[in-house]
Amino acid sequence: MGKPMQARHRTCNGLSSQHLAEELRLKGIDNEMVLKAIASLRREWFVPEGFKTRAYDNEALPIACGQTISQPYTVARMTQLLNPFEGMKVLEVGTGSGYQAALLSLLGAQVWSIERMPELLETARNRFEEHGFKIATRLGDGSVGWNEFAPYDGVIVTAGAPKISSSLMDQLSVGGQLVIPVGEKKRQQLFVVRRLSDDEFDVTEHGEFRFVPLIGKRGWDETAR
Ligand code: SAH
Repeated sequence: MGKPMQARHRTCNGLSSQHLAEELRLKGIDNEMVLKAIASLRREWFVPEGFKTRAYDNEALPIACGQTISQPYTVARMTQLLNPFEGMKVLEVGTGSGYQAALLSLLGAQVWSIERMPELLETARNRFEEHGFKIATRLGDGSVGWNEFAPYDGVIVTAGAPKISSSLMDQLSVGGQLVIPVGEKKRQQLFVVRRLSDDEFDVTEHGEFRFVPLIGKRGWDETAR
């Protein structure tokens, strides 16, 4: 007889991320590449100790600095709205845990990600390095974008803004899309802004979501809570 069965961590065979992907499919996510990437990414790598057993629940979880790793459904919706493709240049505003950036990278995107909290950025960088993700990161205010590497085929803002940032629109390539939650501090509508030409943009709305506030020059004031 071997050792008695232990409560093995239920993510050890990657099955839980597959279950999560199936759950998201039932909730309406229909981009197969996005579902496949979710099924193969270990969300447990991106959640703090103490929350690992809940890593594959479809819920937002707390990370350091009073921030959150977004709900998987929200990540999936935003990712599919970006229409990811191999080699796409993406700017992410709000690195947080690093999960969204890692997912985009798995989908073949070249990712630039900005975070304003040093502690979060350091943890995310260590995770990227440990698990072999090549993601460019920077500490700073992403509400004004990252001009040096613009234009981007996609810009994804993972914190709620008071208005659509004109700087982020300026950094889109023609045909590129900005996915950004905009509204009040506690709840927002998800917008997709598509650049049709140098000076024409098309804006569509994609339902209500809840994000932590985007804080910065084209976001809320530092004191906003
Ligand atoms: N994409 C993250 C979500 C993190 S929550 C993930 O997958 O885990 C949103 C993050 O945006 C927080 O970490 C917050 O610190 C950061 N943030 C808020 N305002 C910002 C700004 N102006 N520039 C960069 N990051 C910002």
